[in-house]
Amino acid sequence: MVKLQLAVVNNMEIDQVLNKVHKQDYQEKEFLQAVEEVFDSIKILADHHPEYAKKGIYERIVEPERMIIFRVPWVDDQGEVHVNRGYRVQFNSALGPYKGGLRFHPNVNLSIIKFLGFEQIFKNALTGLLMGGAKGGSDFDPKNKSADEIMRFCQSFMNELYRHIGPHTDIPAGDIGVDARAIAYLFGQYKKLSASYSGAITGKGVDFGGSLIRKEATGYGLCYFMKAYLADHNEGFKDKKVIITGSGNVALYAMAKALSFGAKVVAMSDSDGYVYAKEGLNFEDMRHLKEDLKGRIKTYALEHPGCAYVAGFENIFDIKADIILLCATQNEVDENIARKIIANGTLAVGEGANMPCRLEAVKLLREHGVLFAPAKAANAGGVAVSGLEMSQNATFVPWSAETVDAKLQQIMVDIYQKAKDCAAYYNLGGNLLAGANIYAFRRVADAMLAQGIV
Ligand code: NDP
Repeated sequence: MVKLQLAVVNNMEIDQVLNKVHKQDYQEKEFLQAVEEVFDSIKILADHHPEYAKKGIYERIVEPERMIIFRVPWVDDQGEVHVNRGYRVQFNSALGPYKGGLRFHPNVNLSIIKFLGFEQIFKNALTGLLMGGAKGGSDFDPKNKSADEIMRFCQSFMNELYRHIGPHTDIPAGDIGVDARAIAYLFGQYKKLSASYSGAITGKGVDFGGSLIRKEATGYGLCYFMKAYLADHNEGFKDKKVIITGSGNVALYAMAKALSFGAKVVAMSDSDGYVYAKEGLNFEDMRHLKEDLKGRIKTYALEHPGCAYVAGFENIFDIKADIILLCATQNEVDENIARKIIANGTLAVGEGANMPCRLEAVKLLREHGVLFAPAKAANAGGVAVSGLEMSQNATFVPWSAETVDAKLQQIMVDIYQKAKDCAAYYNLGGNLLAGANIYAFRRVADAMLAQGIV
């Protein structure tokens, strides 16, 4: 492996851009956090690539190409009118049409959508597919809403969004609170308004243009990434005790794959609390509860003797485990929780969610030798299979589950290798966060340089 001889780093321009973002977007704390994390990694590039500063790449990359904010009025089952706020941040299209999910959660605001959109640019770059970065969503809370209410909300959301998206423009998908049912409603309304049957949304049902393995892709992909990473350290999932935070789409299929690799998943959570079973949790029971019944995790403990329920989802980190897969939401792990994870002798932490660890927590974990798999690399499996869904939609030819799964495995192993090799090239040891950030940033920045100042 050829290693770069590093000169004294002059990152004045990067600091200036960071100061500008702090000044301009001071209220957007999640977005600032995401920019700081990427800039912390790429400072090393400043002296070797003066062209990035000269052509304003740092300044341009933190500014979304377009932000759309809109009213979403809808009527509940009692006839009462509600108004939510909708967002779509089209962040960067240097590598392809905008691509990124939609999140429906009461805490959604511009900062959260911008942080997710910013992360998405680099995650999509790591997949090697031709996709730009975007994110969208609403502060609508789908919990405790009827199917009809969710349908009416999705239709109203799409009444505005449809004019900004399309198979060659912007292709949304699901995220927190946007499951296969919501995607189907969004697709139905898009089809009606655009008078076209196209792959403008991914994560669709397999009977109407969706890809096999898309539902499983982020969770499976996380475990494929972890498997390659662990193998490099003469480790594996077999007989390991695993904790998974969250119990939604990513968490469920991370559970399925970890079990198939011979691990025991002892605890999972939702935003209220967690369940713990020394002998391990059962995938089919958990899947049925969460996907079919849309139930709370507490119910799992009520129905399984030997399984305990503990209120307060953050208490899950009191449990000792070999591997922790963070699959709930941003900022789950701060410095204090990182200390607990270290004290518990954890071997590895993998980020299935977006930005579940604060940067200080990542630094602590790495300093103490915990193997750390960063989100934008480790959770790229979902968007990678969305990219594969776009290919299938473009040719109207669906692929078998085996074909998609094999491509997903290859993409995840390639991403691991890219992050590892890039970290080694820049003398950063095994720092996969920095390796992934630098590799992805360079791919996007070089495309932006080539395309001129637009
Ligand atoms: P889901 O809505 O299916 O599940 C989210 C899970 O996280 C639920 O168990 C939920 O509990 C829990 N959760 C959500 N918000 C909080 C919170 N504030 N505190 C504690 N727990 C919370 O979402 P996904 O599984 O799709 O997404 C999970 C994470 O993975 C997100 O960060 C998302 O951005 C990321 N991701 C998802 C991809 C995908 O393909 N779906 C792709 C790449 C990343 P509750 O039900 O109580 O709210």
